[in-house]
Amino acid sequence: MNKAFFLDRDGIVLSMVYDLESSTIDTPRISSQIKFIDGVFDLLKYTSFLGYRNIVISNQPAVALKKMSLKNFNEIQRVMNQRLNQNHAVIDDYFYCFHHPFAKVPKYRINCSCRKPKTGLIKRAAKKYDFDLPKSWFLGDGVNDILAGQKSGCKTILLANTGFSEFFRILEEKLDGVKPDYIVKRLSEVKKILCK
Ligand SMILES: [Mg+2]
Ligand SMILES: [Zn+2]
Repeated sequence: MNKAFFLDRDGIVLSMVYDLESSTIDTPRISSQIKFIDGVFDLLKYTSFLGYRNIVISNQPAVALKKMSLKNFNEIQRVMNQRLNQNHAVIDDYFYCFHHPFAKVPKYRINCSCRKPKTGLIKRAAKKYDFDLPKSWFLGDGVNDILAGQKSGCKTILLANTGFSEFFRILEEKLDGVKPDYIVKRLSEVKKILCK
């Protein structure tokens, strides 16, 4: 069996972007907005070195909500891969949920089983790569990430670094009864947890 290092995309690999129009912090919508989180290349190299497969598990409803075109989404993916390559970091696979209960694009308007905190994407990845989930990790910056990871039997790490993360919202919700195995302020701390 193999082991996975599951990670969320926005807020873990790519920085969230402040959207002037809506005054919200959201997913990057054009490739020029791509900015990698500090330490992510280094972390991905380390997890690969430890024998994990790096797998992105991410809700991406922006296309369904007509906030972004599929063309832009694919362009972001292309540029992201290019930059990862240039920095000798590998993400082995990406599992995305494009659905949303209020999607404007009808084909995405379903109550799917893959939108985090549901575990559909992790299950699909585990099947494809024969992952040993108790030996795998989920790193995310939101409650949904931690919930999906825990329900799947993975160990979990919450990145709670700045106002850009969901940390403060989580605190307000009294962690929603969710307790990650570890909470870190920056990605460099994750390496120390993994080498324990
Ligand atoms: Mg996130
Ligand atoms: Zn879905």
